Amino acid sequence: MSEWQYERPQRLAVLGATGSIGDSTLEILRLYPDRYRLVALSGHSRIDKLLLLCQEFRPEFVCVSKDKLAEFRQRLKELGLSPTVLSGDDGLDAIASLPQVDTVVAAIVGAAGLSSTLTAARLGKRILLANKESLVMAGHLVMAAARRSGSVILPIDSEHNAIFQCLPKSVQMDNRCIHDECHGIQTLWLTASGGGFLHKSIDEMKKASISDAIRHPNWSMGQKISIDSATMMNKGLELIEACHLFNLPEDRIQIVIHPNSVVHSLVQYVDGSFLAQLGSPDMRTPIAHALAYPNRIDTGVQPLDLYALSHLNFIKPDLEKFVALKLARFAARRGTGACITLNAANEVAVAAFLDERICLTDIATIVKMCLDDDALAMCYDDDFTTLEEIISMDKRVRQRACSIIDRVSMNDEDIQ
Ligand code: NAD
Ligand code: MG
Repeated sequence: MSEWQYERPQRLAVLGATGSIGDSTLEILRLYPDRYRLVALSGHSRIDKLLLLCQEFRPEFVCVSKDKLAEFRQRLKELGLSPTVLSGDDGLDAIASLPQVDTVVAAIVGAAGLSSTLTAARLGKRILLANKESLVMAGHLVMAAARRSGSVILPIDSEHNAIFQCLPKSVQMDNRCIHDECHGIQTLWLTASGGGFLHKSIDEMKKASISDAIRHPNWSMGQKISIDSATMMNKGLELIEACHLFNLPEDRIQIVIHPNSVVHSLVQYVDGSFLAQLGSPDMRTPIAHALAYPNRIDTGVQPLDLYALSHLNFIKPDLEKFVALKLARFAARRGTGACITLNAANEVAVAAFLDERICLTDIATIVKMCLDDDALAMCYDDDFTTLEEIISMDKRVRQRACSIIDRVSMNDEDIQ
């Protein structure tokens, strides 16, 4: 047991505090006001919710989007609150750098979470990582920075948290040990619910409305990850996230559909053992695991009723229907430039779907068109040693994806 956790409260920054992961994190913090002190939070443009959180938690620092800064300051004043207010990406970086913060919860959605995650890794913070996109785009930089600074990255994506829990302690502490023969680690198995279209046809997927696509059978999550779950791009992103977190190539990581969402992932060992982590589909469990690590805390999460579980189902994914899985494997093999392309094209395409400009199945098609683009592919062998290079590639991909979508929606043409 590490004693430092109880000598004084753990001092946290929650980046993305107004989202779904933010909600679940704050629910745990409310249970343990003596153990966890919320020093800083960010909420981008959701300032009504952010104001309520400021009233409740009295953070010292708050970050909002630049366009909401003036209104937010004014409304804080009216409430008689005076935290230091920051804005934009610089503000997020400043929060991730605060000396009075030990732990950063990285719960921003999308590429917007990259810079602050990297800053936290460079500065040796303990990182509770939900923002998978930062590892997809820049896993090599984030993991190397964490290794140099001694930053501990604890995954709170439920599958990665499950795998983390099923690994030997020495591998948890240093992912290079995963290759030590004595541990006998053979394959990681990422489970996937299969999303809302598992038993639907491709044609039904094509016709899906936004609300059809957002509705998830087992989890309640933010909009973007809900769409990613419907296309299974979420599992593709998680595959790349797992490669970085656990230091394995993509062919050592399998994806299996498990519609029950009870087994959150598994580690297969050479002696025939599979270790799995099970639990109700509730993000408070992996978040609490990471908050309390290496200890355990009560969460109030409904425990599994094993007697009520009549069966556990496992199904091989249909790669013709869930093309995103193939694209993600390709990107994982091809390297950073392809992963940045996969992620950026997906973000732009998901936004276009939510804008009703394209249909659900177009998302993977647009990602594939970007991955196949000759001009972008010329950069796939670049080293991407700086954040600037990564952001510049991300921008180029976004422009390409936008121009494909503009062309399609202007001419009302079929995408292929
Ligand atoms: P969400 O949409 O509910 O919340 C996103 C948060 O990010 C909000 O606080 C929002 O204000 C902030 N944000 C959005 N755009 C921003 C920008 N441009 N700059 C700064 N902040 C911005 O999303 P979520 O479901 O909580 O997911 C957050 C991250 O966690 C994602 O990377 C997702 O893949 C991952 N994740 C989520 C779940 C889940 O159950 N929701 C599970 C595993 C992993
Ligand atoms: Mg997940």
